[in-house]
Amino acid sequence: MIEISVDPSACNGCGLCVKDCPMRVYELRGDVSVPVRPENCMGCLSCHEICPAQALEHRGVYPSKRHYVDLRVCEMLNRVI
Ligand code: SF4
Ligand code: SF4
Repeated sequence: MIEISVDPSACNGCGLCVKDCPMRVYELRGDVSVPVRPENCMGCLSCHEICPAQALEHRGVYPSKRHYVDLRVCEMLNRVI
């Protein structure tokens, strides 16, 4: 099972992870993002990469699941190139 933690002292409440997560895992509570639906996480790590404060940590994500992110990046690059 994937465990998500947010460092509240690092999170600046920008909301990027809330908008980016395709599984609607996060909600903003005040100025801090909270993983309110962690069971929905599929481990793409998109939020981890987009967070400007490096406030997000995921445990239990296996390397094979990173391919989802890598494939998305490749698809984006193929459209640009
Ligand atoms: S992207 Fe990072 S800094 Fe922004 S709300 Fe999410 S956890 Fe906080
Ligand atoms: S790893 Fe992917 S699915 Fe999980 S919380 Fe982050 S953006 Fe959402």
